[in-house]
Amino acid sequence: MDAIFFSSHEDIKEFLRPILLGLEEGDLNELAQSASVHSFSEGEVICHEGDPGNAVYTVARGKVDIIKQLDDDNERHLGIRGPGSFFGEMAILQGGTRTATVRAAESTIILEIDRDSFLNVLGRSPSLGIRLLVRMTARLRETDQKAIAELRQANRELVRALQQLERLDQAKADFIQVSAHELRTPVAALSGYAQMIQNNPTVQEISGLESLVQGLVDSADRLHRIFNNILDVSKVMSGEMGIYRTPLSIPVILKGVASTFEEVLKERNLSLEMEGLQNFPLYLGDSDLLYKAFYHLINNSIKYTPDGGEIRVFGKNVEVPELGPCIEITVEDTGIGIPSKDIDLIFEKFYQIGEVAFHSSGETVFKGGGPGLGLTIARGAVEAHGGRIWAESPGYDEEKCPGSRFIVQLPLSSQ
Ligand code: ADP
Repeated sequence: MDAIFFSSHEDIKEFLRPILLGLEEGDLNELAQSASVHSFSEGEVICHEGDPGNAVYTVARGKVDIIKQLDDDNERHLGIRGPGSFFGEMAILQGGTRTATVRAAESTIILEIDRDSFLNVLGRSPSLGIRLLVRMTARLRETDQKAIAELRQANRELVRALQQLERLDQAKADFIQVSAHELRTPVAALSGYAQMIQNNPTVQEISGLESLVQGLVDSADRLHRIFNNILDVSKVMSGEMGIYRTPLSIPVILKGVASTFEEVLKERNLSLEMEGLQNFPLYLGDSDLLYKAFYHLINNSIKYTPDGGEIRVFGKNVEVPELGPCIEITVEDTGIGIPSKDIDLIFEKFYQIGEVAFHSSGETVFKGGGPGLGLTIARGAVEAHGGRIWAESPGYDEEKCPGSRFIVQLPLSSQ
């Protein structure tokens, strides 16, 4: 008993009387007799979420905080209660556990009323029942309104953050586009001059110089291709990827892509098989865009498959519910595979799996990194045709090499 605040059960009874107005004298006595008095200093927990409900509490002095634990680091503040407030009755009425944690917000004195006495009195007293009902309804409404207000506020903050992100993304896209444009011209000139130097008979005669110039030509070419890819991506981002359709043969495009990789496939002992493509009708599409799409898919299969692996490109005519009749081309490899958490994100610009710093810079060497643009361009090109593209893989494993598969569906109806 807190001698300063309550010196007898009579004191407790007199404290409870106005709070439980209308309660019979005997009932009031029973509650007061069963009550124990406890002091808590600021921050101390009075009852824990998840504990069994074996008592009802009333704040006699001070204030308490009602809190719900969201996860290990976050809690939600449900409300604050002052003198005369009851808490903890919900768990008793439901025969369950505490749904929230209650903590002293300052130095606090609490009356703890035994569960059985509380239920006895409640069984006899309609006035206590009604009082509890009214209080619980008000509390539910208060919690409800608080939750709605918090949701609205969170929503407003999310919208603001999204708008800011969109502005930043646009600024980044503008910067990328302008710099790629500006840099492509001098790089094209560099590439041209390097080729002129290479073709110069004097250079060809000086031993050792030829391989140096070859390095210059290759690097300038690579830079040129990177800037072209960046420009393609910026077109995808701004929705300016124009499409110029002419009747074309998908197998011819695929064979064209395959022939550019002939040498590296041989060097790395990779097989590239094509199946089922002869059944495709002529397709009305943009050969430049489709070449790019399949170039990046096959280039990736080469990059992410260890030497000696297999790449298969196969086609079939399919009926897709949302797209109608389509031609479907799958590029499948026996490479390192893709983690399921990244499988959708890899189509985002500049997205690469793992530590970018560890990627090597070769375009066709095993795990040779690029700038993370190929799949964004491939998706942009496929979507410009009204089609869709996605990846499937059992997971990532450099030892077992479960492989990946990229599926492209091009609708015949949107031609
Ligand atoms: P990058 O220039 O890095 O190859 P991409 O946009 O072409 O960029 O691919 C994004 C990422 O997706 C790659 O960094 C790689 O981690 C993953 N990826 C793409 N194709 C494959 C594949 N066939 N097998 C395994 N991982 C792949």
